[in-house]
Amino acid sequence: MRLIDGNAIAQQVLSEVRERAARLAPTVPHVAFVRVGEDPASVSYVAKKQKTAAEVGMKASLTVFPSDVTKAELFAHLDALNADPSVHGILIQAPLPKHLPETEVFNRVAPSKDVDGFGTQSIGRLVQELPGAFAACTPAGVVELLRRSGVETAGRHAVVVGRSLIVGKPAAALLLAKGCDCTVTVAHSKTRDLAAIVRQADIVVAAIGRPRFITADMVKPGAVVIDVGINRVPDATKKTGFRIVGDVDFDAVAPKCEAITPVPGGVGPMTVAMLMMNTLTACERARG
Ligand code: NDP
Repeated sequence: MRLIDGNAIAQQVLSEVRERAARLAPTVPHVAFVRVGEDPASVSYVAKKQKTAAEVGMKASLTVFPSDVTKAELFAHLDALNADPSVHGILIQAPLPKHLPETEVFNRVAPSKDVDGFGTQSIGRLVQELPGAFAACTPAGVVELLRRSGVETAGRHAVVVGRSLIVGKPAAALLLAKGCDCTVTVAHSKTRDLAAIVRQADIVVAAIGRPRFITADMVKPGAVVIDVGINRVPDATKKTGFRIVGDVDFDAVAPKCEAITPVPGGVGPMTVAMLMMNTLTACERARG
């Protein structure tokens, strides 16, 4: 069994971003974060992304709105960011309060600044395999982990468990695209006989949001397992009272695998690294 070290691979990506960003001086790549409300996970994710941006020589600004912000107020701010040539990427931290329609909000971001890859145009370009499509950062990180850890993908059967807009669907599109060339199955909560389907996988991508859902009996010996899940489970030995586990029962599954990502330290750091890469790309393009 080989452990795919997401922290180390993310550091490789970030050092490439740092070098390329420095070459753009005096232009400084700038990602503008927008947060609505004080959801603790969102607060910590945005803080982490801001810190990483600073480490790679990028500017990261943040605007925080109260959770009762109106759509009109939010859109006015997004329009201003779209029109500001010093802003290269815009990221609206999900989840948004219920009264704000996520798809409409994501589509308000100019496609050239959609570094999160959630807009209709970004997703369309990704599926059409057009050059320069911004892929959503987590699935882009999954594919980058496979590529940089030397996992063969062409012609292999990838089973993606989860069909969300931010992980499952774009992960499936990326794995299917030329370059990865996987044969892809996407499973979800209505899938019949999930275990039998996952057992066929050469590559399992688990994006379910249920702690340790993928058990050892569901995984074929020699499979590669990428665990996207981030779940809090109670743990009295921790100061916080919880610890983070993935969607895969790591201890039982790992001995059967050719390679597997840990949680934490797998896909998570790659998500942040790919956001920096997308912002850098947006900046390079804006500069022509
Ligand atoms: P969603 O809740 O949006 O989607 C979960 C998916 O899993 C859905 O498609 C759902 O099916 C499917 N599912 C749920 N229960 C089952 C089941 N019993 N059997 C089969 N499929 C099931 O979650 P996200 O995609 O946003 O996130 C998935 C996980 O990844 C979470 O743990 C999240 O925290 C983590 N995450 C990690 C990131 C990172 O940076 N590492 C970034 C983003 C997310 P259906 O569509 O039918 O409801």
